[in-house]
Amino acid sequence: MLQTTAREIAAVTGGELVGGATGDELVTGTARIDSREVGPGDLFAAFLGEHVDGHDFLDAARTAGAALSLVTDAAAAAEHSLPAVRVDDVRDALAALARAQLARARQENPQLVVLAVTGSAGKTGTKDLLGTILRSAGPTVAPVGSFNNELGLPLTVLQVTGETRFLVLEMGARGIGHIAELTEIARPDVSLVLNVGSAHLGEFGSVDAIARAKGELVDALAPGGRAILNAEDRLVAAMAERSAAPVVTWGFTTGDVRGAELTLDEQARVAFTLEVPAGLTTLHGDAVAPGSFPVRPDLLGEHQAANVLAALTAALMAGVDSASATAALDGATLASGQRMQVLRAGGALIIDDAYNANPDSLRQALKTLAHLGRRHRTIAVLGEMLELGPDTVRLHDEIGRLAVRLNIGQLYVVGEGAAPIHHGASLEGSFGGESEYLDTVEEAIAVLERIVQPGDAVLLKSSRDAGLRRIAAPLVEHL
Ligand code: ATP
Ligand code: MG
Repeated sequence: MLQTTAREIAAVTGGELVGGATGDELVTGTARIDSREVGPGDLFAAFLGEHVDGHDFLDAARTAGAALSLVTDAAAAAEHSLPAVRVDDVRDALAALARAQLARARQENPQLVVLAVTGSAGKTGTKDLLGTILRSAGPTVAPVGSFNNELGLPLTVLQVTGETRFLVLEMGARGIGHIAELTEIARPDVSLVLNVGSAHLGEFGSVDAIARAKGELVDALAPGGRAILNAEDRLVAAMAERSAAPVVTWGFTTGDVRGAELTLDEQARVAFTLEVPAGLTTLHGDAVAPGSFPVRPDLLGEHQAANVLAALTAALMAGVDSASATAALDGATLASGQRMQVLRAGGALIIDDAYNANPDSLRQALKTLAHLGRRHRTIAVLGEMLELGPDTVRLHDEIGRLAVRLNIGQLYVVGEGAAPIHHGASLEGSFGGESEYLDTVEEAIAVLERIVQPGDAVLLKSSRDAGLRRIAAPLVEHL
């Protein structure tokens, strides 16, 4: 955070000074909701979570050096004689504080660039890649993990200091108006929209509604900003109409900034050439030097190439030169981990991607596995994709059929919600391998321990709560 007094925080949040606060307490650190992360000078926000009440940790926060707390319960602050600001809603207070801090940071440092990423799939990965590129050019704030909602976003914004040059934000939407709300906290200078797919389709009702919601990121741009749009996604490319700011598109077959000569090596790692055309100008009005630059990250699957190209395009608009941007990505992996994580054990390749799944990301993961089929026997272990609404059976069924068409060697479908994948595969006809339905994760572990051999490529994929993330560790241990 920028240095701020309790008095200023009370003014911005409409709160009152309690717990013996004089108003002169000085917050020099950042805002934390977990007392274990609190350091000297921090602001501790006593947040009422699902399982814990932050007010129980006021003492711990004080011991750790918190300069001030945000509370809803004035009595608790008084009891622990911890100077605090009492507000009606801690989340709203953090949002108000983040908005005010960012306005001040922009005023004090006109070079500060705010980049925001949205899309149905790949936001966190792309945000990580952007973080990697931008850190090579200047002090950057980018969260680890998603941090893409009304709580995570303000906490990220509040990490901005006087030195920060780039602030990278992930913005997620679970309905119309959500992203608009987030952009009111942090208006982006660069808005990057990756794709419109069927993630959270259940909550939105239609893909068009998803497109409308993601487009709010483009609506929020000031005329001096840049909209960075996927030229190869029809619904994203159409958002150009909504932009008051210049639009720059990217793609492999069309678009302003191109990825040429895209290849996947035998381990499905992507490589391509970044082609920057003449005539592009950065946010600051500088010309972007045209040219061709090799891009060699350590990432699997064509979908990651799209994210890399998107991140590069956004970074160029923020003023990073092409040579340093591409060099920064040499051998890059995703900072947040847990996405298409590759584990090697007993001569087998395990792709652990069981933290998140929707039809788009599952399709991409299966295609990546199929690519590995040139060298490896392929095994897909798939669980339920959650939150898909009334179309859920059809969307699972289609995944089963795709697995057949991609000639995946062996398909294991785990859990009742995922059963339509098995049905789809069985109905699509025979293929190189076969499909088997298993009731529980425990059964899946037992089967895999029996059948996985050296040289196999195994994909583990489901939504987080479907539980397939419990498979990798025992399997690796066993192999
Ligand atoms: P969330 O909404 O849960 O925050 P996210 O948009 O941040 O998700 P990631 O966590 O980056 O997305 O990736 C989620 C999954 O989508 C991973 O399995 C990843 O491999 C896959 N994925 C990444 N990029 C794409 C893409 N462009 N198209 C399809 N799938 C993708
Ligand atoms: Mg995410």
